[in-house]
Amino acid sequence: MKSIIRTCAGCKGKFDQSDLIRLIKSTQGGIAIQARGGRGLYLCKKQTCFKRLNQPKRLHYLFKTSAFPENLERDLMSLCIN
Ligand SMILES: [Zn+2]
Repeated sequence: MKSIIRTCAGCKGKFDQSDLIRLIKSTQGGIAIQARGGRGLYLCKKQTCFKRLNQPKRLHYLFKTSAFPENLERDLMSLCIN
């Protein structure tokens, strides 16, 4: 199977899609982790990339919200490998 390469929104590094976390703007107006559908972006599993994204200005631009929901932030941190 051909691998699909995507860019991490934090570090702009290129990774196999299966190694990335996909975030979408959910229909409720928040942010969700979802493999398909919606307008999404990818994050590699580094805390630094998550933190780079987790800034009010960037979140507002990308998701029209100013913060990650607390439970989602916890989920993301637990997915991060370093
Ligand atoms: Zn990254």
